[in-house]
Amino acid sequence: MKRNEVDRSKLSPGMKQYMEIKDNYEEELLFFRLGDFYELFFEDGILCSRELELTLTSKNGGLDERIPMCGVPFHSVQPYIEKLVSKGYKVAICEQLEDPKSAKGMVKRGVVQVISKGTVVDYEMLKDYDNNYIGSVLDFNNLYTITYSDISTGSLYIMEIPKTQEKLINTILSLNLKEVILYDNSNNDLINLLKYTYGIEVSISNEYLENKYEYLYKEIKEMRYILGIKHLLYYLVVKQLKELDHISGVEIVRPDEFLEMDVHSVRNLELFETLRLKERTYSLIWLLDKTKTAMGSRCLKNWLANPLKEKDAILKRYDMIETLRTEFIVKEELSHELEEVYDLERLCGKAICGNLNARDVLQIKRSLGVLPSIDAKIKQLGFEYEFSDESKLFELLERGIYETPPIGLKEGYLIKDGFNAELDELKSIRSGGKDFIASLEEQERERTGIKTLKVGYTKVFGYYIEVSKGQCDQVKDEYGYERRQTLTNCERFISPLLKEKEALVLNAEEKIVELEYNLFMEIKEEIKKEIFNLKAIARDLASVDAIISLATVADEYNLVRPEILDVRRIEIVEGRHPVVERVSKKEYVSNDCMMDEETNTFLITGPNMSGKSTFMRQLAIIILMAQMGSFVPAKSAKLPIFDKIFTRIGASDDLVSGESTFMVEMMEAKNALVNATGDSLILFDELGRGTATYDGMSLAQAILEYVNDKIKCKTLFSTHYHELTALDKLSGIKNVHVEAYEKDGNVTFLHKVKEGSVDKSYGIHVAKLAGMPKEILGRASEVLKYYEGSSKEALVTTSEQVTFNFDVQDNESSPVLDKLEEIDPLKCTPMDAINLLYELKELSKK
Ligand code: ADP
Ligand code: MG
Repeated sequence: MKRNEVDRSKLSPGMKQYMEIKDNYEEELLFFRLGDFYELFFEDGILCSRELELTLTSKNGGLDERIPMCGVPFHSVQPYIEKLVSKGYKVAICEQLEDPKSAKGMVKRGVVQVISKGTVVDYEMLKDYDNNYIGSVLDFNNLYTITYSDISTGSLYIMEIPKTQEKLINTILSLNLKEVILYDNSNNDLINLLKYTYGIEVSISNEYLENKYEYLYKEIKEMRYILGIKHLLYYLVVKQLKELDHISGVEIVRPDEFLEMDVHSVRNLELFETLRLKERTYSLIWLLDKTKTAMGSRCLKNWLANPLKEKDAILKRYDMIETLRTEFIVKEELSHELEEVYDLERLCGKAICGNLNARDVLQIKRSLGVLPSIDAKIKQLGFEYEFSDESKLFELLERGIYETPPIGLKEGYLIKDGFNAELDELKSIRSGGKDFIASLEEQERERTGIKTLKVGYTKVFGYYIEVSKGQCDQVKDEYGYERRQTLTNCERFISPLLKEKEALVLNAEEKIVELEYNLFMEIKEEIKKEIFNLKAIARDLASVDAIISLATVADEYNLVRPEILDVRRIEIVEGRHPVVERVSKKEYVSNDCMMDEETNTFLITGPNMSGKSTFMRQLAIIILMAQMGSFVPAKSAKLPIFDKIFTRIGASDDLVSGESTFMVEMMEAKNALVNATGDSLILFDELGRGTATYDGMSLAQAILEYVNDKIKCKTLFSTHYHELTALDKLSGIKNVHVEAYEKDGNVTFLHKVKEGSVDKSYGIHVAKLAGMPKEILGRASEVLKYYEGSSKEALVTTSEQVTFNFDVQDNESSPVLDKLEEIDPLKCTPMDAINLLYELKELSKK
């Protein structure tokens, strides 16, 4: 049954109301509140029953056929919404807008919130260390204006980029926008790419919000920015019904203020996740993040994503790290206190556009509680942060909020005794009534002489007097008991006195719950008044946390303060790749990287697996760390400031977008050639290997010459094309190689970078390490000999003629392995096993 095809005139009043609301939320799944359930009807119901594995039922709505329906209990709706939103659906929540008890006729209902990927504000769905951005994209003559916000933290930014689709997608991916709002749906290509290739939610909206939140743009002159803000706000406020009072201002982001990296470099360098497993573990941020708060974690991530270019700003962070390293004890204490700080930023978001509960308020209180002490220590360190005085708010929360409140706001137990006289009064009436009822049991037993008489309570019946079956005949009319319920073993009665007291208790109870709710809302209003201050505090605490994290890492991993040079020279002594160093089981071999002003390019040769790629990544990571304001993994480091980093490393087949490896390689290389300046860093790792040898080599050479002569930026270029090493005749290009030596057919990698070049790749050796079948290895050696000219045997043979040469694996056979092969564990006694073990041990010594 299709919703749009039903005869509406036949529908029941309830379903009519549903239809009218649903008409405005065609795209969304409408969660329609009916009593204790949210119900979904028609296509929504069918879809949700499938996606959420719920039973599909049906409802009589006045039509000939029953209407498909499925539902979830209102108190456990959260996980269902999460699941749907993470699958890319939008969910509209329709609530009862008045109390059904006091409503005349149909209860008023309306949508109170729409949730989509980009506008989630519930903690459970958000990663601590990630921002959740939604962005509007408007295009003007030659620019895209991107206005984006994380409404869970109340941040708002504007950025402009040149108008190319490639740049737009790159920016959307780099900013990690979860949802994009486009002005119209004409650019199908873009919409499909975003939606299906990159899994980004796309919404279309062509309206602008007027007459609300004007303070956000009243200082702005640029019309494009104002339109951008109004476009985003319309979607958030009108379509999604969000409150945005926690957004205090707009930050204009100028991409050229930060070191620029494209998404490929961010991926290749494994800054935020590893290439293969796409996990945070073993990424650079995983190593650097020792923050104590979620806000600090997001701040640090932001620093790494946007390395600085301004020398003074960088030096300021170095200075703070240095201070923290000398003031070790203060640092430890600060670190400890930050553990008491909750995610104030998102708590602010929740206070405005989420469901702030009493436990959240306690988190705000605890965070404010440690603030004075944190403030004192920061002053002691001489850091330039000014925290507003929130002692009044703290005191209010301390006085007002009950220590162990429930999550719900309609159950009472939110407000402390002594906070409000009326509330205390009601509580004493309630407890007076309860005391009376408690003593009633004793009184009635005495009055009636019934020993088994009890006074009890159930939710449905209220208070009752219970008498066991055996003694029921002792209940006399004069007691005034009224029979209410007969159970197998007993009878239950009520009495006028009991009912009177019960009314008192229940009445008080109801009033208490309502009053506590209202008092809580008043307290929430007080928090809202401080929202901008709280956000400023949150931002400063986040950056203190991030800098302490960098100081901790500097200590733990033996990092050194870099020196920033004003000339284009690199002098890194004993540099290390911090993640490989941490993760690898072997000892890490540090390497110098010395490039004077005249040297633009290192042409790196060396066998497979020797460490070429690692050496290249290491340089980029040291530069990135230095410019994010961190100390770096080296004995000493002197570096100029870089404006952009480009990388073409490894085979990052863009499988999703369907481009071939070589195509991706060329696109990434082109991107570097077009955009790099003399102040950039380029890493080209085995460029050209994705195509035929001569093709690849020719392209590699042409690119290398162009970068070295025209762009003149610092470049690391690794290659297996030994022919290219002749290019060191060009000024600016220097050959280096990674050392390895061969002995008895075994290759040892020293991972040491030296001057000059080498021409051996030891590919067959690596294949052997990888466990390639012996036959293949033998044949490959034979073919290799032919190519190297030492064998005159025909290269192409018919299959009968192929004689496999087992040289390569001869030294592989070992007496230990042979012995092991002989053993049949099923026939061994325990004694045999011990003896064999002994024998094997002896053999291995030889
Ligand atoms: P290549 O690019 O030359 O094939 P990689 O850079 O991929 O080699 O390095 C191969 C492996 O060698 C790495 O995974 C790492 O474990 C190890 N390695 C590389 N450089 C070093 C080093 N300087 N010290 C220790 N191990 C290293
Ligand atoms: Mg490599």
